[in-house]
Order: sequence, then structure tokens, then C-alpha cells
Amino acid sequence: MDEATQALHARITQGMPERLILAEMEDLRPYECDGLAVYRQLPRLVVLPETIEQVQHVLRSCCALGVPVVARGAGTGLSGGALPHADGVVLSLAKFNRVLAIDPLARTARVQPGVRNLAISQAAAAYGLYYAPDPSSQIACTIGGNVAENAGGVHCLKYGLTVHNIRALEVVTIDGERLRLGGEALDAAGYDLLALLTGSEGLLGVVVEVTVKLLPKPQLAQVVMASFDHVDVAGAAVARIIAAGITPGGLEMMDNGCIRAAEDYLHAGYPVEAAAILLCELDGTAEEVAEDLARVETLLREAGATALQVSRSEEERLRFWAGRKAAFPAVGRISPDYYCMDGTIPRRELPRVLNGIAALGEKYRLRVVNVFHAGDGNLHPLILFDGNAAGELERAEHLGAEILELCVAVGGAITGEHGVGFEKINQMCVQFAALELEQFHALKHAFDPQGLLNPGKAIPTLARCAEYGAMRVSRGELPFPELERF
Ligand SMILES: Cc1cc2nc3c(=O)[nH]c(=O)nc-3n(C[C@H](O)[C@H](O)[C@H](O)COP(=O)(O)OP(=O)(O)OC[C@H]3O[C@@H](n4cnc5c(N)ncnc54)[C@H](O)[C@@H]3O)c2cc1C
Repeated sequence: MDEATQALHARITQGMPERLILAEMEDLRPYECDGLAVYRQLPRLVVLPETIEQVQHVLRSCCALGVPVVARGAGTGLSGGALPHADGVVLSLAKFNRVLAIDPLARTARVQPGVRNLAISQAAAAYGLYYAPDPSSQIACTIGGNVAENAGGVHCLKYGLTVHNIRALEVVTIDGERLRLGGEALDAAGYDLLALLTGSEGLLGVVVEVTVKLLPKPQLAQVVMASFDHVDVAGAAVARIIAAGITPGGLEMMDNGCIRAAEDYLHAGYPVEAAAILLCELDGTAEEVAEDLARVETLLREAGATALQVSRSEEERLRFWAGRKAAFPAVGRISPDYYCMDGTIPRRELPRVLNGIAALGEKYRLRVVNVFHAGDGNLHPLILFDGNAAGELERAEHLGAEILELCVAVGGAITGEHGVGFEKINQMCVQFAALELEQFHALKHAFDPQGLLNPGKAIPTLARCAEYGAMRVSRGELPFPELERF
């Protein structure tokens, strides 16, 4: 341990037992990356507090010593958000794993931030309730990480993202202050700091308690699986369903590469010859589902579907979804490495952008397969590459960057649900003008004047944008011409 780490260690042990502090190389190693494993960094220390007072103590200690802090849930993030800082501490919320209370009358649950997403629905099932946002990683990811990333999932098209499904947060600021945001009522007085903290990627405070909304489980859910000969025909069908006024419980798309990978892995009964499939779930009462099902089947046929299959039992419905939910690990079996992108576009642009992604794949000589939340226009192109082949990682990174910039060009955004993290920080320069970035910095400064919470993530400095060469140009004039360009 170097001198600075020793001083930090000594300071932190004043307020929590030594057994909750990891400092040995082999103990730090599991924390060196998140789900975006191409970027790795060991922290100075990992701390695993068990109480809110210990979280306050860690944050106060880091604040006093000017040490960066990276909060961590389950480390399933895909944008390098929980990537440690070389001079910093990783603050793991893993020990905050209790469901504190379920109120079936108010339909809320009060949970600690390290509770797994799926565990909330499992705990609420006894009351006929569930927590709607369902990231595909829900078996592992934590609600604290979901809040920090404003996570989405299959159900979010109909039931909203994390931000629409939480009522209150308790947060500890970098100087150790406890804040309660939101409340039991539908709205709380003052600025909507609850929404501000949701999706703030660990840059504004550490979430130590979450009150989530619970929904009654729908009486019935059925899935239609539609096959298509062309990816862009499937893309156009998505816009048609939404335009008809139907909001499915889930509307997901997989292209041929993903269909084959998932079918080989799980045998979900997918049509391996199809260029694309849509999985469209309809939920509600039996009458609502029957009516929507009939309309969706007609719309899909009119839109050019070559085959339709409707789940006739709960077992079959889960089987249809199993392939989609396991698409990422399935793709992991067909390529040494893959890089999962996460951009959002207006639904009407799906055909154009899918064709654009295919063309970019050819340009960079890398295969791209697609599986995504089609109803939300939230794309997840998976770029297949081999990290051991010279130059392939760099080509994958450039290809990913161009895909995100294509999303921005058609009026979309560089992230749908995975966050900006470390991965997409350069594309923030493409998405936002200098003035907007300055406002983000001002906001960050109000919560964290020393910039100690998750530094180097989510909001690029203007100098970084200048270096990237992608700062948005307004009326032919570069903002901040005094900044050095490299
Ligand atoms: C196979 C797979 C499928 C996925 N599918 C989806 C999907 O469908 N939808 C989706 O939205 N995401 C998906 N993800 C991404 C990931 O699971 C989500 O971003 C999730 O919300 C991260 O939760 P986590 O607990 O793992 O957080 P981590 O990865 O540990 O952290 C993520 C970010 O949150 C911050 N953070 C964590 N806990 C706290 C806290 N208590 N207070 C403040 N900041 C905190 C971290 O600093 C970091 O910036 C998927 C990931 C994988 C590997």
C-alpha cells in the first residue's frame, strides 16, 4: 500500500470495521470493471459499508482527503459507469440487500439499494403485485444501479422507465448529508430532484434507499411472434402498431443473427430462416388481450409478416421471451467478444437506421447483430469482434461511435438505458452544445463542488470535446475558439 492509500485506509477504519475494507490486489480484482470489460482499472480500496452511517463516514472521509468515489451496485452496467478510478475508492452497496417494507395498500416497496431488481417482484408476488421495469439483467442488477442508470426493459414501453416507477429516494451527498427526495404523494414540493437524481450515474450522490411503485399483475399476457423477410419491413411494422393506438406490454425485435444465436442456445422455437422477428406482448383482462391480439395480428399481416405464432399457454409465452432475455449471452457464444451499443431513435427512423448500421458494419468489416426494445426505438446493436485480433477492438469502438452518431443525426440520443458512463463520453460532445455541457457541469458542481463522485464519467469537459473534434458547430462558428484543438 502506498502512503496515500495507507492514510485513506487509516481514516476510513476510524468509522467502520477493517473487515469491510478491501485493499489486497486479489480482493480488488473482481471490482476492476463492470459489464463493459474492455476497460479495467484497479481502485485504491473497495469499501462495503453495512449501514447508512458508514456510507456517510466513507463519503466524509473521501471529501476531506479529496479522494474520488465510485458507487457500485452489481457491476452489470454496460457503459463503464462503475469503472473504478485509479486514485479512488469503490463504494459497494452489496450489503444493502434488504426489502425493508411492502405496503400492499399504497402499492409501494421500500428497499435498500443493493436489492436485486427481480427480488422486488419476487417479494411483492405474495400480494399479487410486481415492479414493472425489467432490465434483461434483472436477475443480477440492483435497484440502486437501476436508479443511477434510469434503467429500462421490455415492460417500459407501456409502464415507463425507472424514473416513472419510483416514489422516493434517500441519498447521501459527498459531504455526508442525508437527503430524502420525493415522498408518498404523487408529487413533492419544490424542484423535482427525484427525477434529477434518477439517471445521474453516481455523479450527484449515493442512493441508500429507494421507494418503488408496485403494479397489480395483469390477469393475462400473450405474445405474438411475427416473422419477416426484411429487417426494415419489421421496423416499419413497429411504427404501425403504435400509430394504431395500441401500447403493447413489450415490443421487441431480433434480427437473423440474434435469432439463430438464441435458438441454438435455448431452443425457444424461433424461425431461424426469418430475417427478423417481432415479439409483441399484450396484457390486461382476457377481453382486452383478445381484442388487442386480433388488431395486432391484422396489423402485422398488413405490414408484411410472413408468419405469426401466438403463445397459447404461460409456458409458451415464457419460452418465446426466454430467447430474447438470453440474447446477450447467446451472442457471447458465437463471437470471442461483443460490444453492446445503446442508442435511441424516433421509431419512424428504424428502417433507415437499421440499414445504416448494416452499411457501417461493412465499412468496418465487422458483423453486427441487433436485438432491441423496438417499441421504444431503443437499439442494441451488438458488434462482434475478437479482442485478440490486431486492430479489431479499435475498429469495434469506431463503429460503435459512428452508430451512436447516426442515432443523433436522425434526431435520437446516444443512450436509451445503459447510461453514458465512460464509454460514450465523447459522443456527449456530438449530442450537446458547449453551453448545454456547461449547464450540466454547473449542476454537478452544485452537488459535488470538488468533482469527487464518479469523475471522468457522463459529462465531458469542453477541452475533451475540443480534443475529440466533435464539438457541435453553431452557424459555422466553433464554440470557445480559445480552447486548444489537437
Ligand atoms: C446481460 C445484460 C443485459 C442488460 N439488459 C439491460 C436492459 O434490458 N435494460 C437496462 O436498462 N440495462 C440493461 N443492462 C445494463 C445494466 O444491468 C443496468 O445498467 C443496471 O441498471 C446496472 O445496475 P447495477 O446494479 O449492476 O449497477 P452498476 O453497474 O454497479 O453501476 C451502474 C452505475 O450506477 C452507479 N450506482 C450503482 N449503485 C449506485 C447507488 N446506490 N447510488 C448511486 N450510484 C450508483 C454506478 O456508479 C454506475 O455509474 C444489461 C446488462 C447486462 C450485463
